[in-house]
Amino acid sequence: MNKRRNQCIHCNYSYCIKAGITSQNKQRYQCKKCKKKFIGNYSYRAYHKSTNHNIQQLIKEGVGIRGISRLLDVSKTTVLKKILKIASKVVKPPIPKNITIEIDELKTYTQSKTNERWVVAAYCRETKKVRISTKTCV
Ligand SMILES: [Zn+2]
Repeated sequence: MNKRRNQCIHCNYSYCIKAGITSQNKQRYQCKKCKKKFIGNYSYRAYHKSTNHNIQQLIKEGVGIRGISRLLDVSKTTVLKKILKIASKVVKPPIPKNITIEIDELKTYTQSKTNERWVVAAYCRETKKVRISTKTCV
């Protein structure tokens, strides 16, 4: 038996047992540690390990859901579900409850209407500090 197939894709535990066959006649395995089932060789690209990382990178580059779907050859529904799953793992930054922060935003253009820019200013009442961030929209 192939060593790679024996290794759990979720927790990398090395002891997995056979757990039946899929409808496409592929061997299914179950991890003895985390009890999750998986297939040794996925043919659908959405289940590859690198798909979540690729989706994250494409979102950072500003690619839309349809674009990600076309580029990764994965359905739009799967892309949306993966984005929600990735977003649920994001840890919110700690903001103390006794501090009041005022946030204001401004949309402007530089040189021409094609160069749209956002200016976001955050003001903390207690510390009287202002943080300004600018973002270019493509
Ligand atoms: Zn496992």
